[in-house]
Amino acid sequence: MVNNFNFPIDMKIVLATHNQDKCREMTSILSDFPIDLLTLDSFPEIGEIIEDGNTLEDNALIKARTVFKKTNIPSWADDTGLEVDAIDGEPGIYSARYAGENCSYSDNVNKLIENMLTVPSNKRTAQFKTAIAFVGENMELVSEGTVEGLIATEPKGVGGFGYDPVFYIPEKEKTYSEMSMKEKNKISHRGKAIQNMIFLLRSRLPHIFHQMEDIA
Ligand code: IMP
Repeated sequence: MVNNFNFPIDMKIVLATHNQDKCREMTSILSDFPIDLLTLDSFPEIGEIIEDGNTLEDNALIKARTVFKKTNIPSWADDTGLEVDAIDGEPGIYSARYAGENCSYSDNVNKLIENMLTVPSNKRTAQFKTAIAFVGENMELVSEGTVEGLIATEPKGVGGFGYDPVFYIPEKEKTYSEMSMKEKNKISHRGKAIQNMIFLLRSRLPHIFHQMEDIA
């Protein structure tokens, strides 16, 4: 794995996910550090991890603990949910399977739009939340990142993934899908959770997690 500096790569971390979209975002931000990022694709023997926690934090910890136990390599897991106020915080921890087992991103977006058809613009508030867990030898850390937004009445933009086409950021006057990955990472729930985790790791592993000038 290449990083942006000439540091020797001297620490391996496993990203505890098969989701290529999340991997791309996390790899982009973490490429500023001298780490060799692996994904679960390197460990096919680790099958599906059952995420049966009640919170995003529980599920992130379940994933990171399982992967650290099976690989003995420090593990980093992200669990994300979209909480929409007008529908009692749905889909929340069920964001991945909102429209049913094996549903696509657009199935989820369409179900959300349908469920919000009668909701007026001033009641379309929502929060995207990410919890990150980092588990290594004698170390368990958790960070969070939240972003407030509105659910758009129709998808807009072509970038990103998941609910990005309908997650509208009023200050930017754009959905996440209308932003470049760099722009999204700077302000997103995942970007904030990653920054918070790097802050926690800086005091524990200072030779790896040096000061970050700007999130990229
Ligand atoms: P997960 O449980 O962390 O994999 O995330 C649950 C679901 O939330 C995913 O399947 C996506 O549909 C959605 N999701 C996660 N992160 C994002 C994001 O950054 N933008 C839009 N949707 C996301």
